[in-house]
Amino acid sequence: MLADDDSEIYEAILLERKRQEEGLELIPSENYVSKNVLEAMGSILTNKYSEGLPGKRYYGGNKYIDVVEQLAIDRAKQLFGCEHANVQPLSGSPANLAALYAVLGIGDKFMGLELAHGGHLTHGAAVNFSGQMFKPVPYGVSQETEMFDYDEIRKIALREKPKLILSGLTAYPREIDFKAFSEIADEIEAYHMADIAHIAGLVVGGVHQSPIPYCDIVTTTTHKTLRGPRGAIIMSKTEDRYHDKYHQNSQKNLAQMIDFAVFPCFQGGPHNHTNAAKAVAFNEAMQPEFKDYAEQIVKNARALADSLMSHGFRLVTGGTDNHLILVDLRNKDVSGKEAETALDEVGITVNKNMVPFDPRKPWDPSGIRLGTPVLTTRGMKEDEMNYVGELINRAIKHRSDASAKEKVRHDVLELCRQFPFYD
Ligand SMILES: *Cc1c(COP(=O)(O)O)cnc(C)c1O
Repeated sequence: MLADDDSEIYEAILLERKRQEEGLELIPSENYVSKNVLEAMGSILTNKYSEGLPGKRYYGGNKYIDVVEQLAIDRAKQLFGCEHANVQPLSGSPANLAALYAVLGIGDKFMGLELAHGGHLTHGAAVNFSGQMFKPVPYGVSQETEMFDYDEIRKIALREKPKLILSGLTAYPREIDFKAFSEIADEIEAYHMADIAHIAGLVVGGVHQSPIPYCDIVTTTTHKTLRGPRGAIIMSKTEDRYHDKYHQNSQKNLAQMIDFAVFPCFQGGPHNHTNAAKAVAFNEAMQPEFKDYAEQIVKNARALADSLMSHGFRLVTGGTDNHLILVDLRNKDVSGKEAETALDEVGITVNKNMVPFDPRKPWDPSGIRLGTPVLTTRGMKEDEMNYVGELINRAIKHRSDASAKEKVRHDVLELCRQFPFYD
């Protein structure tokens, strides 16, 4: 037993579990997975090497691994309604690396959402491979509405003629119009790739437009709203519609280009225990209860947004359509970093975040980002969200008052105990 043989690690796991149970986890990219997902992840499948794809392996002994990976592929295709799925990417960033490299060459131009406006590092940030291997052209949100201005995005696309347009978000609280992005991409004969890491659970739950009909490639992590293990998948159409224009020397279709980019280009052996857990999570997401879950995530985000606004917080775009909320703290005279720390001290976990056109720096920006996937998994509803907004307000307002903070910590604990999860 780990408890006896390695008490240092055992102890840390135990304490982390206690932290997850006794705190309000509001980081929008996190979730609490089912015990079945944990069981698959902790299984002996981790022992096996299986480079290649089901039926075409470079190692012997893959009879049962093939069953697992094929189930994961079939379920992903059924769940998202996509033509092709590769379930091997180890996480979201390596998935985006492989997906971009499948169609782009070194130095090729692609358009992605600017980091400070809610994009991901892998959408072209200078510090990331995506900004160093390729030539990123950023687009942002409108200064006035803080939302996408599709006419403006179209103008940039017509001027820059990128080979690929990447739609997707990590900190944009509104619905993305994938159809509008695809029309822009079509007009300039660019690939359209969507990265739905944050919103995959909302997409399969039917509360966000699906990008599948409008994209050549769709990547997603499996551990955010989708509530599976830490990992990712890449979905795509089978055909490369710009084969003659960009890849005339290639024998491969788009599905094969994706598979090749994942292995042998960027990865070795797949993580079979994780892929089994992905299959378990996909099956869970196909159940009718998951639709209720996705709907409740959004209802909860709206309720939390209303509660925060009633306490005088300014929300970027004035609200939310999805699972996340971006708070601009400038009118509260507190920085994102200070707010994150104050909330941490009472057991409320959020992350500091840039707001669009932020005058401050990334390590101490003007905002915090929060979301409702975990609290919704724990069974909380609108009434609790209203109360969580109040707790956040008290924690930030009384951040230099030790006894007031202690009272908030006590109230957080009490709420958490009403919604146990891993018992
Ligand atoms: C989280 C996220 C990723 C990266 O996932 P990792 O698993 O952390 O590498 C990529 N794209 C988007 C939009 C994300 O939100």
